[in-house]
Formats: sequence, C-alpha cells, structure tokens
Amino acid sequence: MRVAALIPAAGSGTRLGLGPKAFVEVAGRSLLGRSAAALAPHVAEVLVALPAGLNLPGDVPARAVTGGDTRQASVLALLRATDAEVVLVHDAARPFLPGAVVGAVIAAAREVGAATAALPVADTLVRAGPGGDCGTLWGTLTPREGLWAVQTPQGFRRDLLLAAHGAALADGFAATDDAGLIARTGGAVRLVPGDARLFKVTTPGDLALAQALAPTWDGQVWDAGGA
Ligand code: C5P
Repeated sequence: MRVAALIPAAGSGTRLGLGPKAFVEVAGRSLLGRSAAALAPHVAEVLVALPAGLNLPGDVPARAVTGGDTRQASVLALLRATDAEVVLVHDAARPFLPGAVVGAVIAAAREVGAATAALPVADTLVRAGPGGDCGTLWGTLTPREGLWAVQTPQGFRRDLLLAAHGAALADGFAATDDAGLIARTGGAVRLVPGDARLFKVTTPGDLALAQALAPTWDGQVWDAGGA
C-alpha cells in the first residue's frame, strides 16, 4: 500500500512569537525540515501545507500545497492532493520522530484503519478553578488512570479520513487532531506507544528543550547513517 506523509504547517505560530513555527530553526535546521526528513525514508511522498505566498526551503524533501484557514482545512487540502492508500499526518512542531514509532503507526493504520502515537499520562491532572487573589487555583482533581496524551504521527486509510473530514465539514465540527475526527464517527483508533522526545515545540521552554536535545539526536542519526 502506498503511504504519504502530510504535514500541516500553515499556521502562524503565534504562541512562540518567532514567525511561522515550522520555519523556526533548531541547531541549524527548521522544525519542518527535521520532521520531513524523519518521515521521508518511510513514505512514497511528503506533502506540506504552507501559508499562501510562502515557498518550501530547499532543504525540505517535500511537495507544497497551500493550506486553509484552520489546521483541519489544511489537512483536508493535503488529503485531496494525494492518492496514497495510507496517510500519516504529522505536526511540523514535533521534530524528533523515532523511526520505530513511524513504522508502528503505519502498521497499525494498515491493520485497524486508524492509529495514533500517544503516551500514558504520568503527571497528576487538575482542572483549574476560578482565579483569586492567590493566582490560578486548584479546582478539581482528574484521575489520570486510563488517560493518554495524544501525539503525532497519526496514520489512516485515506478513504476513512476523507469521509471523517467530510462529515465534520458538513456538521461544522472542529477538532484539534485527525484521530478525533475518526473517533467521532465511531471508528476505532489504535493507541500506539509514542516517545517522550516527540514533544510538541509550542513555548519558549519547549524550544530550549529542543535545542538541548538536537546535538545528541543529530549525532545518533549521523552515527546510524554512517554505520
Ligand atoms: O496552532 P496549532 O498548534 O494548533 O497548529 C497545529 C498545526 O497545524 C501547526 O503545525 C500549524 O502550522 C498547522 N496549521 C495549518 N493551517 C492552519 C493553522 C494551523 O496547517 N490554518
């Protein structure tokens, strides 16, 4: 089965405050370039949704399409731009992507129809209460048992994801990821163990973590390639 990787990267990245987030560099390479390079060996093609008017830098092994007004619209544009039977949707902002996770998500998507990388939640979870003079206050404890934090890549049979996007569009439903759209239509989504290094670069603190991890990560990739 032909597999394509789809990277929605048409957002403005306002939380990081450094321009379009996908183009932010970590140790000399953009988040987008790192994500695309990690996916390329596993798929027939990599497609990237970009803001209108922006071009792909030369070091990104991918084909570009223009994104939409929302992440969901950008993914739909990417889905329509490929005829691969299986698609992997991946956030550009998760640049450290172990090959074993990519392989496991593709295998599970082929078997079940839909799958996502995810990790069991390790922290205590609490919903914040109303703010007061003491700042944000502890509201309600949420048991973490059985809770997983969802990452990407997420893998799908393309026909299933297209149908789920079509249903969401018809209902005016918006989701923050694609597995959520499948689950909403009653489809099964397998949770595949992800990796702590697959964290999403969202805040300046995440960027500092990415900069600290990059030399080790790049050294490993180099060693593996040279062996
Ligand atoms: O803003 P947020 O972190 O939810 O965006 C998730 C991903 O979706 C980012 O990689 C962003 O570039 C992408 N996106 C997009 N098209 C939009 C908005 C966001 O491809 N219109």
